[in-house]
Amino acid sequence: MADFKNALISCQKCGRLIAVKARDYESGAIQCTHAGCGQINPLTQPYYDERILKGLPEFGRLVHQANPTVKYPLRLGINVVGHSPTCEVMVERLIHDGRCYISRRHCTIEVIFDKWKGSFRYQLLDGASDVDSHHHKNSLNGTLLDGYLLQNGEKIDIGDQGLLGLGGKDFFRLEAYRIPPRMLESYLMLKPLEPDETQ
Ligand SMILES: [Zn+2]
Repeated sequence: MADFKNALISCQKCGRLIAVKARDYESGAIQCTHAGCGQINPLTQPYYDERILKGLPEFGRLVHQANPTVKYPLRLGINVVGHSPTCEVMVERLIHDGRCYISRRHCTIEVIFDKWKGSFRYQLLDGASDVDSHHHKNSLNGTLLDGYLLQNGEKIDIGDQGLLGLGGKDFFRLEAYRIPPRMLESYLMLKPLEPDETQ
């Protein structure tokens, strides 16, 4: 556990500074001593240490609905999905009625670690940044999430087992990665609430 001695925090109610001693952290809260206040300020805010990410075997994947043996692993951060070799998730050029409905850089999935919950968020956006100009470019045939067509610039979280539709013809299911609870527990951290100063 970190050294929490002699920190100063701002009172949640009156905003004035309160000196906190190590023993106050053990009780989990401190009462504001300023006249007319008396606010009980919590001193701990549990979160999961991001170092846990280094030891994980994966960050979730997309599974082709029509052929579940085809799986595409996701990485932490930005994953552009499409059939261009510049994509982090490069899918096959799937042909329907003589054409492919998936754009070269079709959509973007950002995998974000939520350190407060100890779980991953999968944020979906239609289109992707262009490799050369870095401007955002929408897909030609659109991106669906559970049957809903994403609007321009709209970001939506994909739930576990959410069904992603690329161009209305090809579907992929998200298999979210859940960190094993016992592993998660060992990375649980307690942090003082908004310390303004430590000596
Ligand atoms: Zn106060």
